[in-house]
Amino acid sequence: MKLRRSTARALAAATALIALGAVTACAEDGAGADPQRVDVAAAFYPLQFIAERIGGDAVRVTNLTKPGAEPHDLELTPRQVGEVNQAELIVYLKGFQPAVDEAVEQNGGDRAFDVAGVQPLLAGSAGGHDHEGEEAGHGGKEKDGGKDPHLWLDPTRLATVGDRLAERLGRADPDRAADYTARAGALRVELETLDAEFAAGLRTCQRRELMVSHAAFGYLTERYQLDQVGITGLAPENEPSPQRLAEVAREAQEHQATTIFFETLVSPKVAETIARQVGAKTAVLDPLEGLSADHGGDYLSVMRTNLATLRTALSCS
Ligand SMILES: [Zn+2]
Ligand SMILES: [Zn+2]
Repeated sequence: MKLRRSTARALAAATALIALGAVTACAEDGAGADPQRVDVAAAFYPLQFIAERIGGDAVRVTNLTKPGAEPHDLELTPRQVGEVNQAELIVYLKGFQPAVDEAVEQNGGDRAFDVAGVQPLLAGSAGGHDHEGEEAGHGGKEKDGGKDPHLWLDPTRLATVGDRLAERLGRADPDRAADYTARAGALRVELETLDAEFAAGLRTCQRRELMVSHAAFGYLTERYQLDQVGITGLAPENEPSPQRLAEVAREAQEHQATTIFFETLVSPKVAETIARQVGAKTAVLDPLEGLSADHGGDYLSVMRTNLATLRTALSCS
């Protein structure tokens, strides 16, 4: 049964190749849904963004996390597991989405590209931060033990991931390797421009502490010398403890925060509670784990919106 099906698929693929008159040897990965293009399965939005930008019309990118879905706790449908199994390249971030890790482990073989392996990750924190001269533990700073996966919020890291992705695509599709390299270079220029805007825009601010809904902004705060206090840790959770809420409210008052940030894909309820308590506003700071279902724009435009939001909230000049 299994044999018959794979034979049928091989025949169908061979027929398709003949029909297209493709004489040159195709990628060893064999039959994708579109034999002219590299089929890429991207685990969540920022990886879809770089795969599309670098792959251009030479790739067909499927995002495993649908718009409006929160990616941390993604579950794959059988159809999506099929997409992972069929993809010629799987772009994912090991340690971020257990369901994707599992699918890759079972069937990924050498088709998987783990962006977490490109550069060493930062250590994750439970959402607190240190104050100089205070004993550790203030603000709930226990290490999560794990690594922080949210590397895409540092545009320069994303550019480096893009360079490596271009190399990986070039190995899967050597005829177009130079195109991938060129497009990764163009994307790098755009990401470095964005980085320069962030650095300049956040250089002089009255406050540098962000009260955020989950501790997704470690790479952004590291890059631009800000500091985050997460209501929850590295992953969004439904109900932080009353003790944690009180700690964050205390932090917000101590740092004279004007704004408690919430996310597009997570309920604003908890942020609103704290904001009411301390007399602050709420605003969206988007960790770009996915685009919201009704959102236009892309990684670059959402990041620029984030920058404007931060400059207002932190009173930057
Ligand atoms: Zn997250
Ligand atoms: Zn503090």
